[in-house]
Formats: sequence, structure tokens, C-alpha cells
Amino acid sequence: MAAPMLRWGCAGRRWAFACVDGGSRHGLGARNDFTLSGMRGQSSLALQPLITAQKPRKGEHEWAAVVGLEIHAQISSNSKLFSGSQVHFAAPPNSLVSFFDASLPGTLPVLNRRCVEAAVMTGLALNCRINKKSLFDRKHYFYADLPAGYQITQQRLPIAVNGSLTYGVCLGKKRRQVITKMVRIKQIQLEQDSGKSLHDDLRSQTLIDLNRAGVGLLEVVMEPDMTCGEEAATAVRELQLILQALGTSQANMAEGQLRVDANVSVHHPGEPFGVRTEVKNLNSARFLAKAIDYEIQRQINELENGGEILNETRSFDSTLGCTVPMRDKEGKQDYRFMPEPNLPPLVLYDAASLPAGADSRQVINIDYIRERLPELPSVTREKLIEQYGMLPEHSFTLLNEAGLLEFFQNVIKETRAEPKVVTSWVLNIFLGYLKQQSLAVSESPITPSALAELLTLLDGKVISSSAAKQVFEELWKSKSKTAAQIVSEKKLELMQDLEALEQLCQAIMEGHPQVVMDLKKGNLKAINKLIGLVRKATLDRADPTVIKKILEEKLSS
Ligand code: ADP
Ligand code: MG
Repeated sequence: MAAPMLRWGCAGRRWAFACVDGGSRHGLGARNDFTLSGMRGQSSLALQPLITAQKPRKGEHEWAAVVGLEIHAQISSNSKLFSGSQVHFAAPPNSLVSFFDASLPGTLPVLNRRCVEAAVMTGLALNCRINKKSLFDRKHYFYADLPAGYQITQQRLPIAVNGSLTYGVCLGKKRRQVITKMVRIKQIQLEQDSGKSLHDDLRSQTLIDLNRAGVGLLEVVMEPDMTCGEEAATAVRELQLILQALGTSQANMAEGQLRVDANVSVHHPGEPFGVRTEVKNLNSARFLAKAIDYEIQRQINELENGGEILNETRSFDSTLGCTVPMRDKEGKQDYRFMPEPNLPPLVLYDAASLPAGADSRQVINIDYIRERLPELPSVTREKLIEQYGMLPEHSFTLLNEAGLLEFFQNVIKETRAEPKVVTSWVLNIFLGYLKQQSLAVSESPITPSALAELLTLLDGKVISSSAAKQVFEELWKSKSKTAAQIVSEKKLELMQDLEALEQLCQAIMEGHPQVVMDLKKGNLKAINKLIGLVRKATLDRADPTVIKKILEEKLSS
């Protein structure tokens, strides 16, 4: 049966509404074409070299740029903020909509405890002060994917305020130098998400999917403490890792679970901040950095050419790489904020204020949550550096790729090889192969145990490091074989027969008297030539350090 549609005109577009009728809902079936294809996986680019903002200098004036972010993170929760509807990404359109989500008259909000706990956890992890009393407000605006005509948010008194986020920016040509930066968090507020508008330009109509309507969001508002796109992208990446470590949001940007609005302005150093523009709805770290750097340069050019900056909202056109004004957001909006009459103040407790005999299912104890906060990424990195003597930038890479840290730890658990060797193989060779083939760690054809076994063979000098690379390539191609099987099939074992190796070294020396002469005259580098010849003669099955030792002994005798 075709879904009954409700249509009304809106600025030349027809809005089409999929009807929600009681338990059996009519979805929009085949129109489910809104997944952000082509965007997947971009979050992993976060710490790749982003375009670095040029120092905003042009003409005679020096310019300084200021960036402040407003970030919406979708709370990981089975149900919505004020209703019992389920939350799933990419479910059939309008299949997860309760009467409340569709704003049917007479429905009332019921606050989801899980969402409140997630807000408290996130606030604590970001060093915020948690307000023991916070309030809900209605923010009014008209849009077809907001059936109530207002969003319930926390404008007057949010749940968490005055925090900070520390992040590390990698600098230098090889990005080896990590400097620590901090951005202040102004506030974190709980609010509802809106539905989704799916624009069907072919039929010149817009379809509304209310699955997302009422899903719980954390809005994290940062102070204008950043100065360029890369800083902003790195701060967002750190926030993403923190939310994931806490389990308060999956924070997958490609799936819209983390959406960023960037406020950007420029001014002359020493003067007040300039008028800001807001670039809305950036859904990848790379686009965020690009949009900000573009916007900084655009504003400088505009001002240098005698123009002025309008306090406007803009969007980023990722194909053209530029920001453009958003036509539908022209003019200052009046949100007509008012207290939400259907929700009482949200009251939280701590150990000191907890009423005697309180039912722990009825109250939220901030201290209880504080004591159970999981390990944060900054602590994990410190441990890696301390435990394995890892370079700071390596600890960043390990955490930045989803699943890589776990892979590394599993290899460490199963191998006899030194942690430094494991780090180098995981970050250089393993990650290199993955990147080359655009694979996620979870899609790797090599398991941690397979790599662990290979590295144990290398550590025990059963194979040379060049043979190890050959085995790695074979493992990558054929999942069914173990490293040991490949080594024996391809006869890659290092020569263990010292006597035979000594004889071979002797023969090579005798065959190349000129090189030996050079060496004896003091050209010590000439030994490499002999080592190379011996390795070649053994088909690279001899340990170069052993060959060197034998040659040196023979030369000095
Ligand atoms: P409003 O009340 O208009 O929403 P806020 O003070 O809440 O303004 O700030 C919104 C966002 O804009 C914050 O993330 C803040 O850091 C940022 N911001 C404020 N002033 C500037 C500025 N001059 N340049 C860049 N960003 C700014
Ligand atoms: Mg604001």
C-alpha cells in the first residue's frame, strides 16, 4: 500500500510527510536513499595532514583568526530522549516514531535516565561543573522535520558548564612534535534531535523521516579558543575518542552522530574579535578543517577589499571546497525561548546531598558516575608511552585508527618480540598495507595472532627481516596459511649452519681481493659490499649481523 502523504507548500517545494498511524507505520520504502554514501570512513582521516592554515596575513595588516565550535553528539541510547521509541541508524523511514515524536496533542515527555547519565559522564570527562539543577526550555522554529514547532533544549541552565578539552596537535614535517592545546568548554546541554528532510529534486518535493526526531543529543559549546581548521579538527577528533571511550556517543561523523557547526571570525591582534559567520553541519573532520581555513581566508580578503562580514550562516560545498551563504537562514531568527512546562527541573545529587534512604533507581548520583568513569584516551596514550617506550606521535596514531590499539595489544600479548618491534610493524607495515587498500582494521586479512607468530619467528632469528616482509605479504594474500608454514614452504629459514656460512664468507673474500684491499686500507664501508655478496649467495637466508661478525673476524685475523 502506498504511504499516505500529507503535503503543503513551502517556498516552491512541496513537503511530503509519511503518515504515522498507530502501531503499523507506513514507511517510505524505496525512497530510503539518504545514507551518506561516499562519506564513510572519513573520520579516520582526522589526524592525517590536514590543510594547514596559512598564517592569516595579507597586505600590510596582520590578522588573527578565532574559531569556536558547537558540536552535536547523538547519545548512545536504545531509546529517545523523551519517548520510548527505539534508536537505530538507517532503519526504514518513519518506522521508529511514537505519538510523542510526531507531536500528537496530549502526548507528554518522559526523560530518559540513560541520556542524563551520558550527559553527566561527558561533563565530568570534560572537566565541567555539573549543575545539580538544570532546566528544559522550548526553542521555537518552523521546519517540516520539527513537528512540534519547537525543540526541547537547555538554554537557561544547562546540565554542565565551564569545562575544558585538552588535545595534541602534531607539528613538523614528519609530524613528530606533539604540542598540547586546550579549549574551554562553555556548556553541555541535553536536547532533542529533529527529523530528517530528504530532498527529492527530481520530483521537486521533500520527504520527511521522523526516525531521528526526539533522539537525545549532547550539544557541546566551545569557547572561541582555536585559531585554524587543523586545531578544530584535532579537537573534534579528541572529543570523538573521549565520547567513544565513555560510550556516551558512537560519534561516527559519517553516520551523522557527530555534527559540527564552526563559528569563525578574524581580527587584528590586540583588537576585539571580529563579526563571526557560522558554517553549519560539517560532517567530516577533513571538511571541517577545509571549511574553516577557507572561511578565514575569505573573511580576510573581504575585509582587505573594503567589504564587511555579515553575521550569517553558511554551508560548506565539499565539491567546490568553499563556503556559501545558506539562503533559508537569512535574517536573525527569534527562537522565542520559553520554559518547557511539561518537564520539572532536572535535579541531580552527589554523595553529600543524597537524601537518606533514597532509591538509587530514582536519583542520579554524580559521585557514583565519577567513580566509574572509564579510562580516557589521554591516559591510555600516557600508559602506552610509559609501558612500551612508545613515541607520543605513535600513541596518537594507535588510538586514532579504530581498532588499531586492540590489534596492537593482541599482538603484544601473543608474541615474544619486543614492543618496539611490534609498534614498528603495526604502524609502518600493517597500517601501510591497510591504507594502501583503504581497509579498516576490522577488515584486515591478517589476524593479530598471525602477525604475533611472524614476529616471534623474526625475534628468534628463524627468519631475516626481509624474509619476514615476504611472509607478511604471503599472509596478507592467503589467510589459510600460518607464518611457519609459509617459512618452511618457501624455505625462508635463516642459515643456521655457521660452518657453511664461514666457508661462504671465505670464498667471497677470496673472489673479491680488491674489496678486501680497500677494507684493509681503511675504507670501512666496503664491508657492506661483501655482506651484500654473501647475502645474495645465500638467497638472503643469512643474518646480516652474523655475516658481518664473521667477515670482521676473518679480516682482523
Ligand atoms: P550565541 O549566544 O549567539 O549562540 P555564543 O556565545 O553561545 O553565541 O557562541 C556561539 C559559538 O560561537 C560558540 O562556540 C563561541 O565559541 C563562538 N563564538 C563566539 N564569538 C565568536 C567570534 N567572535 N568568533 C568566532 N567564534 C565565536
Ligand atoms: Mg549559543
